[in-house]
Amino acid sequence: MTALQTLTVLGATGSIGRSTLDVVARYPERYRVYALTAFSRVIELSELCLTFNPVYAVVADDASALLLREKLQGGANATEVLVGEAALARVAEEADTVMAAIVGAAGLLPTLAAVKAGRRVLLANKEALVMSGALFMRAVREHGATLLPIDSEHNAIFQCLPPNHAQGLTAVGVDKLLLTASGGPFREFSVEQLQSVTPAQAVKHPNWSMGQKISVDSATLMNKGLEFIEACWLFAARPDQIDVVVHPQSVIHSMVCYADGSVLAQMGQPDMRTPIAHALAWPERIASGVPALNFAQLTALTFEAPDLQRFPCLRLAKEAMTAGGTHPAVLNAANEVAVAAFLAGKLDFLGIARVIEQVLNEIPVSAAEELATILAADAEARQRAHAIVAHYLSKTGEG
Ligand code: NDP
Ligand code: MG
Repeated sequence: MTALQTLTVLGATGSIGRSTLDVVARYPERYRVYALTAFSRVIELSELCLTFNPVYAVVADDASALLLREKLQGGANATEVLVGEAALARVAEEADTVMAAIVGAAGLLPTLAAVKAGRRVLLANKEALVMSGALFMRAVREHGATLLPIDSEHNAIFQCLPPNHAQGLTAVGVDKLLLTASGGPFREFSVEQLQSVTPAQAVKHPNWSMGQKISVDSATLMNKGLEFIEACWLFAARPDQIDVVVHPQSVIHSMVCYADGSVLAQMGQPDMRTPIAHALAWPERIASGVPALNFAQLTALTFEAPDLQRFPCLRLAKEAMTAGGTHPAVLNAANEVAVAAFLAGKLDFLGIARVIEQVLNEIPVSAAEELATILAADAEARQRAHAIVAHYLSKTGEG
């Protein structure tokens, strides 16, 4: 009989948040929803609160809190509404298990709070780890947190590694980690075609249904770049121990190559409920609602090398990881600004990589031992990226 666990979902209104609640709803005897958090989608959060009756709901500001309390009034619901960053950290500290599914740097502090409270942390928010890798992994060790990857590739690698992989990849006979990439919606586009792609095209991923930011990251291959950095930290891998391979069907979610020539792959439908259910129940297995793969219906599984000329973001991420220190945080912050500018129609698609590269060139690498240094690098990178986007805009006359 499994003990009841309390669960906080940071970013409950998002794509990962909703998939998590879809799995959790199947197991009321295993999971008690402790807190749900949102940012802009307050009405959606109120509906989730009415369904899951969490102890706390966290929103960003007083106006959202007022609206949420109004929506919850009169029902049998006992949810207390909290506001702001300190409340996010508090509900992350207080639950047994925390799904870290806020998008972007905004997720760093609450995710770290869960780690420092020694919780079981299900990590979807890759940007948090990219920004603060060394510090984050040290906190996991020092506070005895259990860190489980949600990103489908990292969850796949975790499933294909032996249980004692913390001894070191070489020590357990691993030669390489193979990170698969779908290649995104523009895999076959020429540079000329990439020049004019629109936000609507970019957020339409061929295999996965995801939030806007990660969908654009998938289209530029920055998502694979962030995942490359994420894998280095999660599995204590050197950059030369990780290869990226494009696999457009997204059936194999990643692979581990062993010294004896064996390659282990994890396969499944492209549905995030599989890695979510895996991490929620680990080391047990539970049903996720995802149908089994039907091999009779699968067409060919194909593989190709990524094209770093057309998709320079993957190169920039690898270079930032090799440079180390604050450079991954700078890369991440510049990317967040550039992607937001692209989605707002203020930057063309190829401009995303140009902005990031320029910011990386302008900001020297510093050691990333302290949270304050990382947050300062993040702020500086955002400022530079905004200035570069504004400069482009003034030259093109758009906006
Ligand atoms: P969504 O955009 O769908 O959801 C993001 C969530 O974060 C929402 O609940 C949103 O609230 C909340 N949020 C946004 N900004 C803030 C902020 N400033 N402060 C507090 N909360 C905020 O994203 P996804 O669910 O797609 O992705 C979440 C994370 O998981 C990302 O890091 C992504 O890279 C990662 N991931 C996602 C995958 C996927 O399939 N979607 C796969 C692998 C990883 P609101 O909606 O109320 O504004
Ligand atoms: Mg992924």
